[in-house]
Amino acid sequence: MEKIIIVGAGFSGATIARLFADSGKDVIVMDKRDTIGGNAYDCYNKNDILIQPYGPHIFHTNEKKVFEFLSRFTEWTKYEHKVLAAVRKDKFVPVPFNLTSLFMLYPNDKAERIKKILIDEIGLDKKVPILQLKKHENAEVRKFGDFVYKNIFYIYTMKQWGFKPEQLGAEVMNRVPVYVSYEDRYFTDEFQYMPKEGFTELIRNMLCHPRIKLKLGTDANKEISLGEDKIYYKDKELDGMLIYTGCVDELFDYKFGVLPYRSLKFKFETIKKPSYQPSAVVNYTTSHKYTRITEFTKFTCEEKENTVIVKEYSKPFKRGKNIPYYPIPIAKNIAHYQEYNEHAKKYKNLYLLGRLANYKYINMDIAVKNAMELFDKINEIEE
Ligand code: FAD
Ligand code: UDP
Repeated sequence: MEKIIIVGAGFSGATIARLFADSGKDVIVMDKRDTIGGNAYDCYNKNDILIQPYGPHIFHTNEKKVFEFLSRFTEWTKYEHKVLAAVRKDKFVPVPFNLTSLFMLYPNDKAERIKKILIDEIGLDKKVPILQLKKHENAEVRKFGDFVYKNIFYIYTMKQWGFKPEQLGAEVMNRVPVYVSYEDRYFTDEFQYMPKEGFTELIRNMLCHPRIKLKLGTDANKEISLGEDKIYYKDKELDGMLIYTGCVDELFDYKFGVLPYRSLKFKFETIKKPSYQPSAVVNYTTSHKYTRITEFTKFTCEEKENTVIVKEYSKPFKRGKNIPYYPIPIAKNIAHYQEYNEHAKKYKNLYLLGRLANYKYINMDIAVKNAMELFDKINEIEE
């Protein structure tokens, strides 16, 4: 019987596994971790607070189809994410930088003048990427752009990526534009929620299907090997398909060299008071070694005796030593990735999927959308 093997039990792997299972196909899902959910995994700590060991995850999407699909596996709690930037000591301003941030950092008369210029030149309620703002034809807009760049983007981006904003593409920098409005939500997507019982529970429900066999603590590299153009599973030629959501350079044994990734280090602290900071996430955009602090009780709007925070430090990725969290989507790396992507085409029954295997800086909703689209594409080929 044809085998469908899916490597990775994150959003990408779990979505496509469920779609195959629903269509009557048996699948094997393996993950080298002992947990499901990939980087969206969450769990309760010793104080019964839901934490996210691989960094803060908030669900938001404009993709109705994705929202409806995921709603089969969870109920939701309404949650609209707000972020502040600690620009100066005790000066926390909204990010994305908006008109409120402007009035907090400029004297009132100057802020009024800049606000009018921004509305005239860019338009009320418009969003504008920082690098466009810095190049605007109006000199005063450019000056304002330089101010926001310096206070919000430059240091944070250097800490996070080790590159200047200009060196990174729109895929990274356009994620957080400047708002010519008083909008203070981090995301403006139509659907913004947290899964009521957490992300792990959502993925558990997705994977809970008689046709899905889950193998945790299983490194695909130990079970799968690649020939010239054939895939072997447990030393037998795979009569079926492999859907792979891990790092593509690892799959091909670094044939074209190691792809660059960015890693993270998290320092968790329990704080003996109900609240630590004014918003769930505070970005440190001008100071400190960490990029941001997340306070998890703010995601669930719980006030307990204790709260828990995590300080996030960005680090270079070192193979075998830490986790590849982010692809670094700069032109040189994308060209490097393409070598692997081209090579992968030799294997007719291999499909690359997800943030790592596609080497793309995507959110959870796009991981789900891409998995749904791949499922449709495979079905078209097979018909
Ligand atoms: P992953 O979650 O990385 O899952 C891949 C899985 O494959 C992992 O479990 C891994 O162990 C497994 N694997 C890899 N290699 C092997 C192997 N050889 N054998 C077996 N298993 C293997 N998105 C949002 O929508 N909202 C957010 O707020 C948000 N915040 C984020 C914060 C951080 C710090 C990070 C890093 C990401 C964030 N994301 C967010 C993005 C989100 O994590 C990803 O879009 C999503 O998890 C991608 O899912 P995936 O299944 O493609 O990859
Ligand atoms: N960014 C920044 N300052 C901020 C917030 C974001 O410079 O206060 C830049 C930074 O380069 C970051 C990118 O915008 O990596 C994308 O931010 P996002 O919050 O989407 O990052 P993620 O949550 O995915 O780590």
